[in-house]
Amino acid sequence: MSKSCPICDKPAAAKHRPFCSERCANVDLSRWLGGHYRIPTDEAPTVYDGGLDADEDDRG
Ligand SMILES: [Zn+2]
Repeated sequence: MSKSCPICDKPAAAKHRPFCSERCANVDLSRWLGGHYRIPTDEAPTVYDGGLDADEDDRG
């Protein structure tokens, strides 16, 4: 029973499930918060700029 990360579709890590990493968990969280949130990451600051899967979650 292994799920894939909803953000990047990599195999989820037990520590961060259903995500593969803390970074992806933060990305999902930022989506929930509407993007008002700054994610402390060393990645590029353009989370919404197409670098990730543009799959839309059903957030109501
Ligand atoms: Zn991921």
